[in-house]
Amino acid sequence: MSDERHQNRMQRKKAVVDERISQANVERGVLILLKGNGKGKSSSALGTLSRSLGHGQHGAVVQFIKGRRETGEYLFFRDHPRLEWHIMGQGFTWETQDRERDVEAAEAAWAITQGLLENPAIDIIVLDEMSYMFKYGYLDVAPIVEALQKRPAHQNVIITGRTMATPLQEIADTISVVNDERHAFRAGVKAQKGIEY
Ligand code: ATP
Ligand code: MG
Repeated sequence: MSDERHQNRMQRKKAVVDERISQANVERGVLILLKGNGKGKSSSALGTLSRSLGHGQHGAVVQFIKGRRETGEYLFFRDHPRLEWHIMGQGFTWETQDRERDVEAAEAAWAITQGLLENPAIDIIVLDEMSYMFKYGYLDVAPIVEALQKRPAHQNVIITGRTMATPLQEIADTISVVNDERHAFRAGVKAQKGIEY
């Protein structure tokens, strides 16, 4: 392509983009859902969290599934002065088979989440792997939808998990699907420090 044609094309593109930007003028918090079977949901949520903290905002993370406690992200973020990080008690992991205990832990994590959703001092909340609580029937989705709708207007919320409950999708502002096109695990590469945890 000639330089001139390229320049014309970019100018037209810029006009379209500028027009769209000028039309997006609503300022409010958003509900973001990150779903799908591919790798990158929790790390994307935490990337956005770091963006927010970098601007001096206040954040919270609630991990609904208790994996390894000492993940790199937990070790990195736990001492941050403007962040609180909650890991769901002794509850649900892929290893537990005690439904009653799982439900108790889910309810405890929900109680914490509810407090965060009522707190205007919290700018961004990451609800990591929360979607499993609905999938397994550990939590009802209706009260969560209600709390999300009543939250402070500026508050951003990110929920991750492979599948998402339909009522959450109905009220979400942004939904991104991370596809599993390929994963090193299937080629026999073991979970690595700094990549998986
Ligand atoms: P990440 O935390 O790396 O952003 P994720 O949140 O998208 O991943 P989860 O569904 O929460 O993925 O899975 C948790 C763990 O499983 C992570 O350590 C992740 O790297 C790994 N994982 C994610 N997708 C796959 C996959 N398709 N096959 C194998 N392992 C995966
Ligand atoms: Mg995850």
